Amino acid sequence: METADRLTKIPPYLFMELRKKIVAARAAGVDVISLAIGDPVEATPKSVIDELCRAAYDPANHRYPTDEEKGMLAFRQEVARWYDRRYGVALDPATEILGLIGSKEGCHHFILARINPGDVVLMTDPGYPAYRASILMGGGEPWNVPIRAKNDYLPDFAEIPTAIAKKARGMFLNYPNNPTGACATRKFLGDLVAFAKDYDIAVCYDNPYSEILFAGQERISFLMAPGAKDVGVELNSLSKPFNMCGWRLGMACGNPDLIAAISKVKENTDSGIFNPIQFAGIQALKTEEAFIEDMTAIYGRRRELVLSTLRKIGIVFTPPRGTFYLWTPVPEGMTSLEFTNRLFDRTAIVVAAGTAYGEFGEGYIRISLTVPDDRLAEAMSRIEKEFAA
Ligand SMILES: *Cc1c(COP(=O)(O)O)cnc(C)c1O
Repeated sequence: METADRLTKIPPYLFMELRKKIVAARAAGVDVISLAIGDPVEATPKSVIDELCRAAYDPANHRYPTDEEKGMLAFRQEVARWYDRRYGVALDPATEILGLIGSKEGCHHFILARINPGDVVLMTDPGYPAYRASILMGGGEPWNVPIRAKNDYLPDFAEIPTAIAKKARGMFLNYPNNPTGACATRKFLGDLVAFAKDYDIAVCYDNPYSEILFAGQERISFLMAPGAKDVGVELNSLSKPFNMCGWRLGMACGNPDLIAAISKVKENTDSGIFNPIQFAGIQALKTEEAFIEDMTAIYGRRRELVLSTLRKIGIVFTPPRGTFYLWTPVPEGMTSLEFTNRLFDRTAIVVAAGTAYGEFGEGYIRISLTVPDDRLAEAMSRIEKEFAA
């Protein structure tokens, strides 16, 4: 059966070879440890699960979701209180907030809501691969904005040719950044708003790691920047801060025209989020702030363990202060993929090669801290043994 052209445009998974080796090794009984995926392993908070169960028994919640594609008003109101408390950002639940089936859904529907076939959409390189896929599925043309260590992994707007900026209708950004861990500054957000205004670019600021911060890093939302609501939306998600990746719950906040347009796409696509999941989300936002602190303390300890192990084998760097990833330089003289393969062949540890996120990811691997403590300890002791000088 022939399938649609739009799918063939999405780049194939670059690391099929490695994936094959993992499957073969596991089948042969090798104890493979994966540090490649960002998906918390600890349970969702109990009060959230309890609230899901309570709501699931109410037949009123078995019908189509309340307010359908917009998300329940009570959920949107809780999101507004959350943004006010955590970021000092005021949002109108009626027009400036939309419930999402996760932030990834928002990325895709942002494209369908804003981009016409042939429009240029800016995204960072390295960047989250789903952006490129969404742009391509929506008929847009992705244009990669390099982000580099020397600029703290923030885009340099002067590097974007004027002709491209003029053609661009949208831009994806994500700080605290997956994969680099870099955080935005208030100054950068101001520059971003100005750039977007100058060229009429709609910003899709994807912020699922806004709560995963270390070493005194300030909590930052795109919507804190003056004028942000004129030029874009921020997507956020309960997946990463509340260990709810499988629940599929997030939100889009900001520009009312974009919110209405994304809502129209959803009305004609998915009809919204199962009510009990929204009730559970309200519970998380309302009562589980301390859970985030507990989790970031856990990630912080794991971070120190990985950094100290890397130091012992001669890899020394100052990591940025966000996300549960460590964007780690590979030893000199090796490519990302060579080091990834060597780690796997010698220690049965899987990491993500930097080039999975774009060509400017060359020279790095991404290590995820969402792995049980004992597995991480085992992985680090294998690395130390293998690579000790
Ligand atoms: C994890 C992740 C997402 C997906 O979040 P969901 O809310 O689970 O869909 C989106 N963007 C980035 C950059 C991510 O790392």
